[in-house]
Amino acid sequence: MDKEMSYGSDYKFIPATSIGSGVGIDILPDLYNYTIQIVNIHLVGDPKTNDFVLIDAGMPDSAEEIISVIENRFGENSRPKAIILTHGHFDHVGAIIELVKRWEIPVYAHELEMPFLLGEKSYPEPDATVEGGMVAKMSPMFPNEPINLGNHIKPFPSDGTVPHMPGFKWIHTPGHTPGHVSFYRENDGTLIVGDAFVTVKQEYLYKVFTQELEISGPPRYLTTDWNAAKASVAKLAALKPTVAVTGHGLPLSGDLLTSSLEKLVHDFDDIAKPDYGKYVH
Ligand SMILES: [Zn+2]
Ligand SMILES: [Zn+2]
Repeated sequence: MDKEMSYGSDYKFIPATSIGSGVGIDILPDLYNYTIQIVNIHLVGDPKTNDFVLIDAGMPDSAEEIISVIENRFGENSRPKAIILTHGHFDHVGAIIELVKRWEIPVYAHELEMPFLLGEKSYPEPDATVEGGMVAKMSPMFPNEPINLGNHIKPFPSDGTVPHMPGFKWIHTPGHTPGHVSFYRENDGTLIVGDAFVTVKQEYLYKVFTQELEISGPPRYLTTDWNAAKASVAKLAALKPTVAVTGHGLPLSGDLLTSSLEKLVHDFDDIAKPDYGKYVH
């Protein structure tokens, strides 16, 4: 059953880190955020139960760390019910094959992300020429070849529900990738953003390292459709979330989240969209 799973041909460990690396934050009783080097994973579910999911699967080579984070929170030998993906970029699926093999659990993603997760299509090359700092310049070293998860991956149900995440709906937020999704729980305003927007200027090595809190659009070097990205941010802002966790950077909540999102929508072209780059027209 495992034989058809494989990472992309350019899969490799990426030596990048931040002061947040290895730090976990309790956001809500059933929402935990943990940073692997420069990317976040989230655990959704009450630690008093064994009903939980893992959202996104970290950086290459991080499987052991993810397993220990989960066992610390949910108990020895605990396993999530599923891995739920916001999208398939290398820093969100970096440990997924080892995790799926160990836990024998399904993975879910949006239908439009499937070609990148079934080994059919590479993501566009990261754009080293985009306006931004050192991370943008380094981005050509990032893996972009597709992973193949074979029959372990399934699309989300078309009714908007998310398997094993009662109360949450998936929301299509394309732009950063075609099948990018965010997750929203209406009853308490919890938003799991993915990379539709992030709270650190992900293009700048120093800001990534210090995790300086600053609302930003999706990471620039990998975002290919800026019109869709803008519409996706507007869609999320209109939900008026009360707390948000993102793929990169610190969580945001309350008035700071509201005002930051308003500012991002209003000034999207200034804050988010690069002045130049090969995916800006
Ligand atoms: Zn991404
Ligand atoms: Zn990312």
